[in-house]
Amino acid sequence: MKVGVLALQGAFARHVACLDALGAEAVPVRTPDQLAAVDALILPGGESTTMSMLLESSDLVDPLAERLAAGLPTLGTCAGMILLGAEILDGRPDQRCFGAVDISVRRNAFGRQVDSFEADLDLPELPGGAFHAVFIRAPFVERAGAAVDVLAAVDGHPVLCRQGAVTVAAFHPELSDDLRIHERFLKEMG
Ligand code: GLN
Repeated sequence: MKVGVLALQGAFARHVACLDALGAEAVPVRTPDQLAAVDALILPGGESTTMSMLLESSDLVDPLAERLAAGLPTLGTCAGMILLGAEILDGRPDQRCFGAVDISVRRNAFGRQVDSFEADLDLPELPGGAFHAVFIRAPFVERAGAAVDVLAAVDGHPVLCRQGAVTVAAFHPELSDDLRIHERFLKEMG
């Protein structure tokens, strides 16, 4: 199983390290050929507007939309969550999203002054039931469609969701010293 990590911009290196630590084959993805060769994908955090532009200039928009539509197991974190949602609130008019998860995502939703924080999430799906999460200028989910499972929330706002083969997190699981979210993602791929 090859797990791609979109490596155009942002926090991709730590995801590669997490996958390595779990014994998965991690492959940086920057081209359509590299995307075609992977069995699963991680879209990292970073800046969703920049990532959207770079996806276009790298000719990755259509191939990624096709792989997502075909059920590619995908984990999106922070900016990756924004890209995988169905609607972006407070986005730039020219930034794209792929609609792989039926959620409306508000960018920078936790406010301007407090750009970053950490929170202990109640996460009954994981062994241990809790996860220490790092939020960096994080989005949250303002609307989740009926097909979406909400796995964790902060102050009533969903921050970890799943729909089919796609999981999205508003936080950065690769920055916690805890591999359980990546491990769960790899397990779900079969
Ligand atoms: N605020 C960023 C955006 O809108 C996301 C931040 C992150 O990925 N840590 O894309």
